[in-house]
Amino acid sequence: MPAPRTIPAVKGFRDVLPEESRRWQALEEAAGQVFGRFGFGEIRLPVLERTELFARSLGETTDIVEKEMYSFADRDETGLTLRPEATAGVVRAYLESGLAQSDPAARLFYRGPMFRRERPQRGRYRQFYQIGAEVLGRDDPLADAELLLMLVRYLAAVGARDTRLELNSVGDRTCRPVYRERLREFGRAHLEGLCADCHRRLERNPLRMLDCKVESCREIMARAPVAAESLCEACRAHLDGVRALLEQEGVTYTMNVRLVRGLDYYCRTAFEVVGAGLGAQNAVGGGGRYDGLVAALGGPDVPGVGFALGLERLAMVAPDAGGEPDGPTAVILPLEPQAVGPALALATRLRDNGLVVGLEPAGRSLKALLRAADRRRARLAVILGEEELRTRRGTVRDLTRHEDRREAFSLDASGAELARSLRTMIGAVE
Ligand code: ATP
Ligand code: MG
Repeated sequence: MPAPRTIPAVKGFRDVLPEESRRWQALEEAAGQVFGRFGFGEIRLPVLERTELFARSLGETTDIVEKEMYSFADRDETGLTLRPEATAGVVRAYLESGLAQSDPAARLFYRGPMFRRERPQRGRYRQFYQIGAEVLGRDDPLADAELLLMLVRYLAAVGARDTRLELNSVGDRTCRPVYRERLREFGRAHLEGLCADCHRRLERNPLRMLDCKVESCREIMARAPVAAESLCEACRAHLDGVRALLEQEGVTYTMNVRLVRGLDYYCRTAFEVVGAGLGAQNAVGGGGRYDGLVAALGGPDVPGVGFALGLERLAMVAPDAGGEPDGPTAVILPLEPQAVGPALALATRLRDNGLVVGLEPAGRSLKALLRAADRRRARLAVILGEEELRTRRGTVRDLTRHEDRREAFSLDASGAELARSLRTMIGAVE
């Protein structure tokens, strides 16, 4: 019989192994801390939503809705979709849970996997992770400025390098239609140089031509009219207000008049965090204001502003998040089979007292066991052999200094005392 073949993961889906996930944990913990200081609470959302939630919130003409969603019919024929982003879910929950009444200016953050069926490449996966934050119920420039300030504080807290914040305003219900028409005219005049997707965008959603990744389109669109020239008075005042507050707090950013967000519901403030050295997938995160979204999802006319960061790309620009991993403080090495029980008992007492403790199986030479302890990058090895069991004293070997210490380690001491003496030996306390 042939050996069974191994089963690979689905294309674009990947595993996050402990070393990487330790860094992700640090990124997530820092988000909880920094966002917490700004009054944000975590919301945990389902990954599955009704397809119509995204069709209505993202707009029928976005790449996501047109070709990137993992959608399927449930057994009862309900159309379901693995969430491609979380803002729509946040707003759904805000309405459904009654927060819209009880805490209309809710500040919520989330983290978790998103799903988009795009072409996998470096920094682009079909299941990827985001950390995001949303401020609902606020239309004042202070809300945008505070959110951006939180974002830059967070990036600093995780040690993100070489990132820059880009800012723009994409107008609102009043002035965006004017701009859209100007873009459409521009597109029509340059039709022959634009890709097929942009031909479609030209009719359905011309702003998205600015977001095209095709090089020839980018060259043409670099000369397109910019939103800044068409902003109405209210949008201009809003942008000036945001900028003044950012400048007051010393937030560094650059204006990018060509920045638009891929999603239809954005208005006014749009921003992106761009990472140097990430290649073509250089957006670490982005966000903006979405004043029409809550109403579009059947709620009251409540404004909102938020952002989402891609965790994979964030980990690339913040490679030191989480620091160097610590090996165990001690690894316990039973030399004989009869030392296994006492070794486990010792490990339990030390772990109960907060130490990171490794445990090796018996049946190998001392040399092999010590090598195993070294491989785990343990600071100390506690050797339990016949002699140690008889005298009730463990031999503790300092693996960095290659010294044995016996006197200090009576196996009959309390777990707290034993943990303390190991901590003292590595110089970690008192
Ligand atoms: P891009 O321009 O790179 O396609 P986007 O505008 O589609 O990004 P958003 O929807 O704003 O991205 O999501 C915010 C962030 O999520 C991005 O800046 C990026 O870091 C991350 N992200 C988006 N799509 C993917 C993906 N397929 N794989 C990994 N990260 C992603
Ligand atoms: Mg995209």
